[in-house]
Amino acid sequence: MENKIIETNNANETFLLGKMIGEGAKSGDVIALTGDLGCGKTVLTQGIAAGLGINEVVNSPTFVILQEYESGRLPFYHFDVYRISDVREMDETGYHEYVYGDGVALIEWANLIEEILPAEYMQIEIKKDLDKGFDYRRIKIKNAGTI
Ligand code: ADP
Ligand code: MG
Repeated sequence: MENKIIETNNANETFLLGKMIGEGAKSGDVIALTGDLGCGKTVLTQGIAAGLGINEVVNSPTFVILQEYESGRLPFYHFDVYRISDVREMDETGYHEYVYGDGVALIEWANLIEEILPAEYMQIEIKKDLDKGFDYRRIKIKNAGTI
């Protein structure tokens, strides 16, 4: 399935969606997450990590741009680029090696580094719609290939 829209009504549903994505993820996959603060990017990421078989605690790397997990089925590189003010700062993180590497790379706030995203990636956009409830999320997936 190429593009998909999934609606969730609580954090666990978003986590489970992530888990399904993580279970289907392949070596070299790149996942670009966009959406406002508090919309559930990290919740989805935690599900993806669980789906990869990672049993460590996965949080938003607030003060580090990259958190690396090696305990799952594939290496998992979790970027949160919220604090990036210039894409050139990404060079220091080893971003290019990770994104073109053998693991699964996920980028929260990927819209901030759009010009250095690879040619192919799964794009996931999360939006709230307060008319539908505080915990409602509309999750749009492009290039859903693996799920
Ligand atoms: P982000 O990483 O996008 O800033 P977080 O994942 O850290 O956001 O936080 C999302 C917050 O929203 C969590 O407190 C979570 O419990 C809550 N939440 C409520 N409903 C949902 C939902 N449907 N999907 C994901 N998170 C939800
Ligand atoms: Mg986050």
